[in-house]
Amino acid sequence: MTVSNLIDGQATAAQIRREVATDTEAWVKAGNRAPYLAVVLVGEHPASASYVRGKAKACAEAGIGSDTMRFPDSISQDELLAVVNKLNHDPDVDGILVQLPLPDHIDEKTVIHAIDPTKDVDGFHPVNAGLLVIGDPDAFVPATPAGILELIRRYGVETAGATAVVLGRSNIVGKPMANLLVQKGIDATVTVCHSRTKDLVDVCRRADILIAAIGRARFVTADMVKPGAVVIDVGINRVDDSEAPKGYRIVGDVDFEAVQPSARLVTPVPRGVGPMTIAMLLKNTLRAARRHSKATNQS
Ligand code: NDP
Repeated sequence: MTVSNLIDGQATAAQIRREVATDTEAWVKAGNRAPYLAVVLVGEHPASASYVRGKAKACAEAGIGSDTMRFPDSISQDELLAVVNKLNHDPDVDGILVQLPLPDHIDEKTVIHAIDPTKDVDGFHPVNAGLLVIGDPDAFVPATPAGILELIRRYGVETAGATAVVLGRSNIVGKPMANLLVQKGIDATVTVCHSRTKDLVDVCRRADILIAAIGRARFVTADMVKPGAVVIDVGINRVDDSEAPKGYRIVGDVDFEAVQPSARLVTPVPRGVGPMTIAMLLKNTLRAARRHSKATNQS
């Protein structure tokens, strides 16, 4: 069955990856070195290893160079900081991505803050968070909210004057999402909700654009959604399913079956927001390469 109000993140991400590949090819043909992403992976976390493989494959397909530097769980914080520092000073490295989570004995904040903000393609460094807040186009925006905005734009959703409600206030999704939507040129009126929000159902029901990023399976029910709203589901939650080959399946933060009939547009899980994340990482890496080339030529 074709669901006409479905936002197809998989297809949109594939399109963006093709666009990045075309732009990268043109960039290299013009005599520039291929963009290069350094990925740092600590430990044997299976999900992290799988994400990193996906990123490396996507880079290769887009003509972006990448290498995954693997370190054992036993690496010390100082050793890891030395790795980051070396990459910061390597002129052939455009983007640095330290895959999270890091082992408990390493302070993630210290490591993220050590990355050169001009190479911080994940957009987690406070300099980039600050640039985003003040609306500076040089900000690297975290890939998930950047991908959501791209979906909203490509599906022709009017943001100017729209009431947007963001459920969740994490530094990697909720807050940057709200900061993006409120910028001049995007012009939404934004409310951010969290676990202490009162009258959550009523607040959500006012949204023209509702973005759910809380990590609670099927939390957003039909009564929380205004008919005709655009609903973006960021959640990735495992629920038991004895009939699924792995004994579980992945669902979002939105009760998709209940919400889909009355929504104007809705993202599924999977194949919604998830695939956009890697596509936006590639875009950020190409941008980093352009910026470094400009900075080198100017110096
Ligand atoms: P966090 O756990 O960091 O933040 C969750 C937020 O949701 C918090 O602000 C929390 O409030 C709020 N929250 C939790 N429960 C409730 C509730 N009952 N009512 C209202 N607010 C609530 O999560 P992330 O932002 O990192 O991730 C959110 C979801 O998105 C997860 O499922 C994650 O797996 C997924 N995700 C998906 C990505 C993708 O590529 N598709 C990328 C990143 C994340 P408070 O601050 O008060 O505790």
